Amino acid sequence: MDLQNQPLDIIILNRNIRLEDNAAFYYGSLRQNYLVLYVFDEKYWTSNGRSPRQARFLFDCLEELDKRLLLYNSCIYVFEGSYDALTLWIETYSRKTAIHLNHITDTDYLTQQLKKFKTHHSKRRELKIYRDFGIQVDNINRDSWSKDWNELMRSPLLPTPKVSRVKNLCSLVQFSAFKPPILSKRQPYETLQHGGSKEAADLLDTFLTGRCRDYQTLISSPRTAEYACSRLSPHITYGSISLRSIYQKATSQIPYSQNKKDLKSFIKRLYWHCHFIQKLETESRIEFRSMHSMCDDLRPNIDLEIIERLFAGETGFPFLDACMKFLRQSGWINFRMRAMIMSFASYNLWQPWQVTSPMLAQLFVDYEPGIHICQAQMQSGATGINLPRIYSVTKQSLDQDPNTDWIKKILPELQSFSPNEIHRGDLKGRYPAKIVDLEETGKIARDHIWSMRKDAEFKKIARAVYMLHGSRKTSRRY
Ligand SMILES: Cc1cc2nc3c(=O)[nH]c(=O)nc-3n(C[C@H](O)[C@H](O)[C@H](O)COP(=O)(O)OP(=O)(O)OC[C@H]3O[C@@H](n4cnc5c(N)ncnc54)[C@H](O)[C@@H]3O)c2cc1C
Repeated sequence: MDLQNQPLDIIILNRNIRLEDNAAFYYGSLRQNYLVLYVFDEKYWTSNGRSPRQARFLFDCLEELDKRLLLYNSCIYVFEGSYDALTLWIETYSRKTAIHLNHITDTDYLTQQLKKFKTHHSKRRELKIYRDFGIQVDNINRDSWSKDWNELMRSPLLPTPKVSRVKNLCSLVQFSAFKPPILSKRQPYETLQHGGSKEAADLLDTFLTGRCRDYQTLISSPRTAEYACSRLSPHITYGSISLRSIYQKATSQIPYSQNKKDLKSFIKRLYWHCHFIQKLETESRIEFRSMHSMCDDLRPNIDLEIIERLFAGETGFPFLDACMKFLRQSGWINFRMRAMIMSFASYNLWQPWQVTSPMLAQLFVDYEPGIHICQAQMQSGATGINLPRIYSVTKQSLDQDPNTDWIKKILPELQSFSPNEIHRGDLKGRYPAKIVDLEETGKIARDHIWSMRKDAEFKKIARAVYMLHGSRKTSRRY
């Protein structure tokens, strides 16, 4: 084959940093003459909800992949700049080029860039965009969504890429020599999860062969969830493992597993993963606006001082503060505690989710905009289609850490207090004062939300939201 007459295949990595079951990588490698690019855009990494701890995880994944590519006669090059700038760079090539990338659903900044990039290149060269998660990109249809998701998850995994026959050189910096400014500041990364396909495979293995035992019950408390949850979320977000391979491995274990119900419950969450991301894909405006348009005027006043107290873990409620400190340190916390934090911010502090949601996202290593934004709205009563749930911080404290051992581990200054005093936050002036009255603020929020939901116009809009975004599996009450 005369390689010079073949197009050079450019494989662009976004958030799918792996060799196994990676459509862009596999199909881009078939002519065995390819260039692998990672687009590093500083502006993206400082946009809504993004943070250096997430970039650190992604760079772990790139580092591992770059080393593995030695065996493929290839390496990762970094294009530093936006997709607009990348377009100009690609145009400088005198040779024919083809572009391969996987679709991702992201926040507005990247979505707009990618849209322009696709429009430009689809007219000029072979441009292939592949599905990765179980998201409908074209022909969005909620009625066939579930069927499509199942089909994709059950379809065969793709082989690893073919070895490149030519070591393609280019003027860009090689990943091994790239030092992104965003990672130059000293940050406590040691306490965060590390990226890479090996890490992901190990986590999946230990989860399926043992840690999943009693997953359904242990998932609720931060004491037990740290171990009992799969902890695969950042790996799924940055693609160090494919969602389909997790689905297939978990499904294949069910017949032999002692923990069938736990595994089924885990698999259900893989479905939710895509179900939530689909909402952002369908309607990108929900990054900034409530799904239910009447909910945008609910919380007009921003109080940065109380928001700062929440994020510093100084609310005067020990369990909530311990959750926030744990999250700051580990970059992860379980679902229920994420929901409780968001509910406290939106109902008890009555702050707009548009302000608190990106601040929370920055703390998560696994920040996945589609899931995060929808959950932030759900836990704030802003979707109109989910029944509002106001989490009681005191009840969660009693339920999830009855002996307060976990709270005391994180807040050792509370060692001498009894569990009762800690749950009630009755700490005799030796702990920050409570920033709000839980009962009073909970009642005001409940009255406010429910009176609005009774309105006929509210119900009409909610029905339209359901038609666009609602899961078709269960019937809904408005
Ligand atoms: C306010 C709020 C914000 C959230 N933000 C994110 C986020 O940015 N990124 C993220 O991945 N998850 C988010 N979640 C969902 C959930 O909390 C995490 O997916 C989960 O805690 C990750 O830990 P794990 O991988 O051990 O989960 P497991 O319990 O082991 O679940 C396996 C996988 O299923 C998916 N999953 C689990 N729960 C959910 C859910 N409720 N909705 C959608 N997918 C789910 C995730 O991909 C997860 O990795 C958020 C939840 C709330 C309430």
